[in-house]
Amino acid sequence: MAAVEFTLQGRTDVHGRCYLDLEAVGALTTTCQRCMQALEHPLRLARELELADSVAVIEQADDDVDRVLAGPAMAVNELVEDEVILELPMVGRHEQCEVMAGGDGEDAAGRGEGATAPLKDMLQEWAHRAGRDTSEPQTARRAAGAVRKPIKEQ
Ligand SMILES: [Zn+2]
Repeated sequence: MAAVEFTLQGRTDVHGRCYLDLEAVGALTTTCQRCMQALEHPLRLARELELADSVAVIEQADDDVDRVLAGPAMAVNELVEDEVILELPMVGRHEQCEVMAGGDGEDAAGRGEGATAPLKDMLQEWAHRAGRDTSEPQTARRAAGAVRKPIKEQ
C-alpha cells in the first residue's frame, strides 16, 4: 500500500451526537486479478462517522449512518485503514490490461502464430511418417515371412 494522507476531525451536532470527519487522499497499489501486474487505485474519500457508545448501538442501527465505536483511546491508523479498505474494489482489475493490449499483445500473438505453424508441420510430418511406419513393418514382416518359409522348407 502506498502513502495515504488523511485528516480526521471531531465535532458535535446540535443533538449532542459526536462525529468524526475523515478525509483521505492518496494512491494505493494492489495486484490486478487478471494480469497480476500492479494496479493503482487513486483514493479520495470523505466519511462522516458517528461515534457510538457501544457495539449494540452500531448493530441495532438500521440506517445508513456509518458508526464507529467510541473509546477513550482510538487507533486512528486502524480507523483510517478500515475506511480505505472499504473504498477499494473487492476484485481489482485493470480496465484494459497492458499485457493483453497494445504492442506487447501483438508481439505475443505473432510469436503464437510462429509457434503453431511449425507445430502443425511437425504433426503433419509425424502423421505422414506414422502412416509410412505402419505400412513399412507389414511389408517388412511379409518379406521376413517370405524369407523364412524357404528356410523352414530347407
Ligand atoms: Zn491487469
